[in-house]
Amino acid sequence: MTRCYRCGREAPRYHITYMRRSMCGDCFVSFYERKVKNAYIKYGMYRVGRRVGVAVSGGKDSLALLSVLKRVFPHLSLTAIYLNLGIGGYSDESERVSRKLCDELGVDLIIYRLDSSEGFVVPDFRETAFRKRMCGVCGTVKRYLLNKVAYENGLEVIATGHNLDDTVEVLFELYLRGNLEEAARLKPVLVSNHPKMASRIKPLIEMTDEEDLYYVDALGIEYASSWCPLVKGSRMMNRKMLIKQIEEKIPGYRHLLFKSHVKKILPKLEQLYSQPALNDCELCGMPTTARICSYCKVVKRVRRAEDVEAQ
Ligand code: SF4
Ligand SMILES: [Zn+2]
Ligand SMILES: [Zn+2]
Repeated sequence: MTRCYRCGREAPRYHITYMRRSMCGDCFVSFYERKVKNAYIKYGMYRVGRRVGVAVSGGKDSLALLSVLKRVFPHLSLTAIYLNLGIGGYSDESERVSRKLCDELGVDLIIYRLDSSEGFVVPDFRETAFRKRMCGVCGTVKRYLLNKVAYENGLEVIATGHNLDDTVEVLFELYLRGNLEEAARLKPVLVSNHPKMASRIKPLIEMTDEEDLYYVDALGIEYASSWCPLVKGSRMMNRKMLIKQIEEKIPGYRHLLFKSHVKKILPKLEQLYSQPALNDCELCGMPTTARICSYCKVVKRVRRAEDVEAQ
């Protein structure tokens, strides 16, 4: 009979694959919360600000993030931000579960709709040259709008639910392509260097997909479990599958890669690449390293496509 490795209770519900240990629900919740709390403190996340905007997407990771921050740091000022990207029923379901959790936790929620506020929705990019890079362009839109919403609401920090699997997947791609400048920015805390730019933190950066899933399950949190319909066959999903296969052959691979990145590689990359200076975008006034920010550049394409259709 398997037992919880911490309290000895019989038939534990959760098996943590990389640890090869099983835990009961209560022990797992305290284990998860202690790990997130340690990471928050270890990486100095509390130093970049106390008014925190938590980006919620309705998925397990971001809802785990909101819950764990609320439970572990009850005095932190939290505001959830949900961007409705206009991806049909997927976005509506994600909004519903995000709203439900915020109500349960008593956390203020800002809902920002792309259709009414920006005049386009993410699926519009399918008609543009970005159709094969939907997640890339969607990421640009989300980064920009999250920052804009945070800035307009006086939130100093944006916390996102990026976890270890997400981080390793991106690292994998960046190293493969030798994109060291971007790799230098892949870290638990990105401190703002512009008054209109919120700092960014990733409190779940040491947690795996599996652990996030167990945490929402143990707390009975409802989350949107369906896949985004735009993600099918994406390179990101293929890379995630590949990493899963490597982890099966080399248990602990993800933790090792992340640890080497943070402790050995990042300090050297930071010496090579300082944080780029930011100026104001000539079109929207938000911070950018170029004359026109990437958001204004991509949005122009969607609006152009719409104009062409209307003619
Ligand atoms: S899966 Fe890709 S397109 Fe869908 S919401 Fe996420 S980043 Fe956007
Ligand atoms: Zn136990
Ligand atoms: Zn701009």
